[in-house]
Amino acid sequence: MTGGSQHCLVTGGAGFIGSHLTEELLTAGHRVTILDDLSTGHEDNLAAVRDHEKLTVRKGSITDPVLLMEVMRDVDTVYHLAAAVGVKLVADDPVRTIETNIYPTETLLRHAAQQNIRVFLASTSEVYGKNPKDQWTEEEDLVLGPTSKPRWAYGCSKAIDEFLALAYYRKFQTPIVIGRFFNVVGPRQVGHYGMVIPRFVDRALANETLTVYDDGQQVRCFAHVDDVVQAVIKLTNDDTAAGEVFNIGSDTPVTIKALAEQVIALTGSDSKIQLEPYHTEYGSDFEDVRRRVPDLTKLQSQLGGKPSRTLEQILQDVIAEKRRRLENR
Ligand code: UDP
Repeated sequence: MTGGSQHCLVTGGAGFIGSHLTEELLTAGHRVTILDDLSTGHEDNLAAVRDHEKLTVRKGSITDPVLLMEVMRDVDTVYHLAAAVGVKLVADDPVRTIETNIYPTETLLRHAAQQNIRVFLASTSEVYGKNPKDQWTEEEDLVLGPTSKPRWAYGCSKAIDEFLALAYYRKFQTPIVIGRFFNVVGPRQVGHYGMVIPRFVDRALANETLTVYDDGQQVRCFAHVDDVVQAVIKLTNDDTAAGEVFNIGSDTPVTIKALAEQVIALTGSDSKIQLEPYHTEYGSDFEDVRRRVPDLTKLQSQLGGKPSRTLEQILQDVIAEKRRRLENR
């Protein structure tokens, strides 16, 4: 385990997960530099820490190799979260997905290897694609769809990042940990890029119809961002986790229809649920993943625990935050 105060770089630190991670690192006494182009992240996400003396925010893109080299100059640890994320955004702009998710990771890994910087690489459950198994261990096959369907560009780009990271670990022993996030949710997440919980809560609070795609029987597991951030920091600083891939999330499944019903019940909303085919939102060539449940055995045995906040706790947190925002408008 690595202790003591570190200088951490958080790429994508103004994003949803990145901003929670930044807060936690600052609370633990570390110095944090954020690199974020504010494309999907937002400065408001950093409101609680904006004036923190140990925080530096650099507005810029990870696709700028000179800037990336500069911000990595004297850091001990990089949490690499910057990416083109969200299925909708990725389906809409596959070029950006590839340019943002692949080349900068390679540059970042090269500098990390040269300077022996510890790296956490944020990956995604999207890498499993449509693997038909009920639960996925980290050794499962990646079952991606055809290249003609842009959705798979995201999972594929992250899989390449993983191959790169593991190759750097093998060749240079750079301490790198890979975390595959499964539907991380919580306060500050926005619904613009397709994320289902902020969308449902926004709609329910406005008494508008909740749109559930397909038959609503698709299954997901939702983990609270605070639990996820704890796991990320522990794994990154655990020498025995280097060179390993971990599923990070919750393993409690829920159907999207049941999720919609729970959001309506917890908000006390008059909203109705409407089932709609996928193509109304995502275009005719969209493919969804029917079931996405991680096997967390590896995470649990590495950390002695796993994300534990329940869906109800998560929803209460998101609802409370969104209500506060509505009141302060
Ligand atoms: N979804 C939905 N209505 C919405 C947004 C999403 O029914 O307004 C569904 C979506 O089709 C998917 C699930 O909710 O089956 C989770 O979607 P999200 O984009 O949050 O995550 P991912 O698909 O990446 O797991």
